Amino acid sequence: MLTEYTGNGIYLTAHDEQYIDCASGTFNVSLGYSAKEVVDALHRQLDRLAHLTSDHTRDASARIFESMREYLPPHIGAFWFRDITGSTANEAAIRIAQKATGNTDVFSLFLSHHGQSVAATGISGNAFRHRSFTLPFPGSVKIPAPDCGDCFFGQTPDRCGMLCATRVADFAEYASSGRVAALIIEPVLGNGGNLVPPDGYFRELRRVCDDLGILIIADEVQTGFGRTGTFFASTGVARDLRPDIITFAKGAGGVGIPVAGVLMREDLDVLEPWEHSSTAGANPLSLTALAETVRYIREHGVLENVTAVSGPLLDGLRALDRDFAAVSGPRGVGLMQAFDLPDADAVRRFLPIAKHHGLIMRGSRYGFGRAVKVRPPLIITPEQVGELLARLRAALHTFTR
Ligand code: PMP
Repeated sequence: MLTEYTGNGIYLTAHDEQYIDCASGTFNVSLGYSAKEVVDALHRQLDRLAHLTSDHTRDASARIFESMREYLPPHIGAFWFRDITGSTANEAAIRIAQKATGNTDVFSLFLSHHGQSVAATGISGNAFRHRSFTLPFPGSVKIPAPDCGDCFFGQTPDRCGMLCATRVADFAEYASSGRVAALIIEPVLGNGGNLVPPDGYFRELRRVCDDLGILIIADEVQTGFGRTGTFFASTGVARDLRPDIITFAKGAGGVGIPVAGVLMREDLDVLEPWEHSSTAGANPLSLTALAETVRYIREHGVLENVTAVSGPLLDGLRALDRDFAAVSGPRGVGLMQAFDLPDADAVRRFLPIAKHHGLIMRGSRYGFGRAVKVRPPLIITPEQVGELLARLRAALHTFTR
């Protein structure tokens, strides 16, 4: 076998040690490691056929889109399921926005992460990933994030005038070519430190973008497929964003199968097949994982589960905040939560200790570089949340001893 690890539900096991995977793989194993119906369907598809070119899977994609409709904002009417990574799904969204508007520039946020391909890296607001390269995206304009703990404008939340949204107009005027196609935003900034924008931000951002004629792309690569308690954040915590385009990847494959896609307003269905595709795009295994993940979420009440367990998880993190001086800032929505340690070095020291106590956890390496993310698979039970918190408490005891 390739590795010593085996997976079952929220657990990974290696060398007789069992870990709760608080990172859901790479934040993609949304249904845990063994969701039976999904795995069985993948076996059946593999026995039948592993590859078909995307020309032959268009009808299957259309059926999957129909099965997702109840979970989409009502103005979303078209799909593009030809990607297997979030990076290229975001690039598809950019192509759509540029072709539909005839404009060039793309706004994105400080602290954002939109992927590792050249254009996706070029528009990401995480300079540390760019520094060793020349990754041009000529029309990329980065704007301050809604980061109330460290406001770019030096404001406090109670009287800030939501400058991070309203000043988008100034960036359009002074920092862009004047031809802005889209603004891309993660509804909860994931790698930027699990930042949930303040109330009113999405509404204001939408208003400003409408005034300026800028399309909004919601990068739901991390937030999609139930992570925040609704199928997309764009129908829950970020409903006022009313994105014109939504991208997804990661959790869409349920048990970790790569699949990604784009959803958009019907009038934005502008790409020709040859304008954005890849060899493995819309392959039968990816589409099977996608279809079965949607079905599993519906039939197993996964969204209801996320909503039910997220409160106790956040309460538990708040209790750790009270009990440990080293812990601060518990925050998040659904099962996309995090807390802070004093600094990035503390996070680096803490992660192996957490592993020793049976928790696989990931930190945030920039921006809020001191965040520890808590994002178990969406099928975690209330009892398992208790187990996770008990292990976390024990790990923090060891860490602070
Ligand atoms: N967008 C966001 C918000 C992400 O977190 C990631 C991956 N970390 C991507 C895009 C890129 O996805 P992928 O790694 O599948 O290319």
